[in-house]
Formats: sequence, structure tokens, C-alpha cells
Amino acid sequence: MSVTSRLRTPEEIALNAGAELPRLLLPQPAMFAERALRLRELAAGHPMRDYLLLMAVLAEAQHARLAHYPDIALPTAAQADAAAQQGQALLDVARWPRDPVWRGEWRALLRHALDRLPADSPARPGVTAALALDDAALEQQAERLLTGVSLGLDMALAPLVAAGLQLYFTRLVMATQAAQPGSFGYTEDQGRCPCCASLPVASITRVGGGAEGYRYLHCTLCNAEWHMVRVKCTHCRSTGGVRFRALESVAANDAAPAGKRPSVQAETCDSCGHYLKIVHMTQDVQVDPVADDLATLTLDLLVSDAGYARHGANLLLLFGEAEEDDGTPPPERGPR
Ligand SMILES: [Zn+2]
Ligand SMILES: [Zn+2]
Repeated sequence: MSVTSRLRTPEEIALNAGAELPRLLLPQPAMFAERALRLRELAAGHPMRDYLLLMAVLAEAQHARLAHYPDIALPTAAQADAAAQQGQALLDVARWPRDPVWRGEWRALLRHALDRLPADSPARPGVTAALALDDAALEQQAERLLTGVSLGLDMALAPLVAAGLQLYFTRLVMATQAAQPGSFGYTEDQGRCPCCASLPVASITRVGGGAEGYRYLHCTLCNAEWHMVRVKCTHCRSTGGVRFRALESVAANDAAPAGKRPSVQAETCDSCGHYLKIVHMTQDVQVDPVADDLATLTLDLLVSDAGYARHGANLLLLFGEAEEDDGTPPPERGPR
């Protein structure tokens, strides 16, 4: 057998055939509403029911606020040109100055959610307490969350702050694209979002349109998706040691047709020891990278027991405890 006759992914075959492949899929207006539906569906009978329902209420609030988001400062054409020339993400979270408008919108988001949480929801005290946070404390938490600094990060508050930042950055990407189409494109680091330079939350294989069958990485912050060939580690880009794992209860389901894949898998890499989940629309058209990641925490436990470290980040559920300052640098975590 010739060394060049290795298996090719569908992407490589299509690329070699010169097919048109959308490299970047920008967030769509109905996305938060669809996520909320998926979260409610997954919450039924789930051990993390209360948490998933809180996330559903937040996603519904994100949907409601997205449509009425006020005008915010957008990048200039000169900034877009400079980012494109340098191969950098235009809205890189480490550099982009957040419009203070986001803070008022964050509070409006929380009030919207609070109005809709059941009276006996265990999440109410946390949301109420978050509303008392002042601007300086909020910006400090946002900065830590966006730059992956766990030192001093309030882990209970983090998902609520993240929901407001997701709303702001998603709106920012959509408004930038509307004002200056073509602002987002190729960036140097294939492992980070081409719009905001955050890490992916998970991969998704899509159905429909030009994206049929292709794998995209879904941004944990701005909800943009960018293409990466399948069966390739999203952390070290190795193609050699990639394997797929699923929960035994799913994988061992005798009732499943032969060859049927579960809708959520962990893509593990033996070259670098990392993993990222992948959700398949071909198996369940309703899958959502954020919702399905939250609802499959047991899969994280399974692969971490097997020795793999999680790559990527879900800002709505951070792992680990906040750390005391003992002089050691914080481990890699968060979207940057
Ligand atoms: Zn992004
Ligand atoms: Zn790897």
C-alpha cells in the first residue's frame, strides 16, 4: 500500500474536488431560542435538571434581549483591515474594548430571567445577588472569565456573567457583519474563533446546505462556527491518535442500528492527551454544542478518568475551584 493512500476525510475529498465550503458560519438570530428549547428537552429527568432549566431561562432571556440590543461601538474599517492583514481575530477578547452598554444589558438580561424563574427555583438567590454587583466588580469578573484567569474568579457568578458576555459578543459579531460584510475571515490560529479568539466549546457536524457533513468548531463566546477537517485534534492538530468515545449506556445500546453513532462523542487525542466533544446533527438534528455539552457531564468524567484533559471551554460551566493566590501561574482555562 502506498503511503499516500491513507483515508481521506470527506472535507479533504470535497476540497480536492474544488467544492465550495463555507469556512465561517456566523451566529443566526434564532440560535438562543433553539438552544433554550434543547436545554428544556435535555433537562427532563436529568440529574442536573435545575441547572439546565436555569440555563434554558437564561437562553430565552438572551434571545429576547438580542432582538432589542441597543447600538454599540463597532470596529472601524481600518481596524478590520489591520486585523485581516495580521491574521488576527478582529474582536479578540484580550484587546477589544467592551462598550459599557453591555453592563446595563447584562442587568436587563438577569431581570428578564428572574421574572421567569419559578418562585421555588434554587437559582433565584444567586441571580438576585448578581444584580447587586457594581460595575467595577462586574468588569473584573468579566476580564478574568474572558482571559482564562481563575484566580479570584467567582465560580458561582461566572455562568451569569458569561451569559451577558455571550449576548454582547454575539450581537457585536452580527452587527459588525451587517455594517461591514466580510470583516471576518482567516486567522492564524485555527484552534480559536476567527471573530473573537475564544476557544471552542465543542465541535458540530452539520447537515443542510453547503455545510452538509462538515465539522465546525463552535465558539464558546460569540457563537460563530469555523471549519476544521474531521478526525483531527483541535488542540495539537495531530491526526494520528484521534479516537471517539461515548457513554457506555449509549454505545452499548443493542437497539441501535449497526453502525449508528451516538449524537455526542468525545474526540480524544493520544498525541497530546486532550479531548473536545463533538455533536452530530446527522444523529439528532436538534443537537446544540453548548446545551449538549452541559448535559453530558458524565462523558467528561469518563474521559477524564481515562486520563484526558479537556480542551476548549464552556463558559456556562467551568471546572475546578477558584484558586488562592499562592504565586503559581493559573492553569490554562477559559476562552483564551
Ligand atoms: Zn467567537
Ligand atoms: Zn492532540
